[in-house]
Order: sequence, then structure tokens, then C-alpha cells
Amino acid sequence: MGRVQEIEHEIALVSARLQALKQELETIRKSCDHEFVKDDYIRICKKCDLQESIYY
Ligand SMILES: [Zn+2]
Repeated sequence: MGRVQEIEHEIALVSARLQALKQELETIRKSCDHEFVKDDYIRICKKCDLQESIYY
């Protein structure tokens, strides 16, 4: 396999992995019983790291 094909193959694998990880994170955050810590402009859940703007 040439280097280019190797890189493209690697990118495809990493993309799939990234997608799976994002999905997992989303699932964790959806089921999280958030416990927010307030900053100046955002609040951050100390359990799942979800960040939300305080101003809407
Ligand atoms: Zn949370």
C-alpha cells in the first residue's frame, strides 16, 4: 500500500473512531445529572464537562 493510501486509510479509521467517541460523549452527557460550576460567562458541569453559556 502506498503512503497516500495508507494515510487515507488511517484518516478513515480515525474519523470512525472520532464519530464513535462523540456519540459516546453525547450519550454520557444526556444521561448526566449535571452539577454546574459557574464561571464568568459559562457554566461547566463538573461531572461531564458540558459547557453552557449563561447568557441566552
Ligand atoms: Zn453533566
